[in-house]
Amino acid sequence: MKKKMHKKKTSNIIFALLFVAIAIAAVLYQEKPKQPVPISPIFTPTPVPPTLTPTPTPVPLVGYCLKVPVIMYHHIQPMNEARPKNQGGLSVDPGVFDQQMAHLASSGYTTLFANELVSALKNKTALPAKSIVVTFDDGYRDNHTHALPIIRKYSIKANLMLTTGLLEGADYLTWDQVNDMKNSGLYYFVDHTWSHFNVGAGAEEKIRYEIETAKRQIQDRLGQQVDIFAYPYGVGGSVARKVLQENGFSGAFSTIPGFYQCDSFIFALHRTRIGNSSLSAYGL
Ligand SMILES: [Zn+2]
Repeated sequence: MKKKMHKKKTSNIIFALLFVAIAIAAVLYQEKPKQPVPISPIFTPTPVPPTLTPTPTPVPLVGYCLKVPVIMYHHIQPMNEARPKNQGGLSVDPGVFDQQMAHLASSGYTTLFANELVSALKNKTALPAKSIVVTFDDGYRDNHTHALPIIRKYSIKANLMLTTGLLEGADYLTWDQVNDMKNSGLYYFVDHTWSHFNVGAGAEEKIRYEIETAKRQIQDRLGQQVDIFAYPYGVGGSVARKVLQENGFSGAFSTIPGFYQCDSFIFALHRTRIGNSSLSAYGL
């Protein structure tokens, strides 16, 4: 910085005001809400974090279609606990979540298990007029602590997309907790790979291992047939689709947003990510 030996009084004042303005601007800039940062699980077989919903791509409504919004949650935890862990962008506060489930219960919605939606599309059958599918990705421990009591309170049918290799790790559900959720009779379990692997890329052998291991583990541990998949990172490719079909899967969930589901994209069903606003703000 340059030093001036001879300064006028007014220029000193201008300099001081400028300095104050810069300081205020710096503080305001720091207080701007930060962009959600993808979370890094403490325990993870492959250190790849979940990402947020990708850019919407319009998909034509072709074939047998039903208006069934599929809503997507990750963490349900108080925001003051979420933010220090950089999980703010993937968290809904339990108080807000309670209001959202109360809205479903009081607005005439029928909550469905994922296989009920897939079966209706496959068999071209009807579903109740205001049907909705509520999903939770990854299997976070707060789903047992904070979501389960609210799911029970409103008798919501819920769907848990399990990343089986991450269970028992810090921040993730234990198998005992998953069993507890199963015993409520309010949960359906979906294959979300073993290690949250991106099945849209990589070797077929690895993709096969990821899909088949999670399927087998859920079936063995919970005694539920697993034939529905949810893509980590939102989308899959032709190899993943081939492996899913070879393993008897009948449908899969993407993170392409949209309230309509069609049999023409039964392996890329649409989901809408829900945050901390009322469900009516999302058009529900
Ligand atoms: Zn995920």
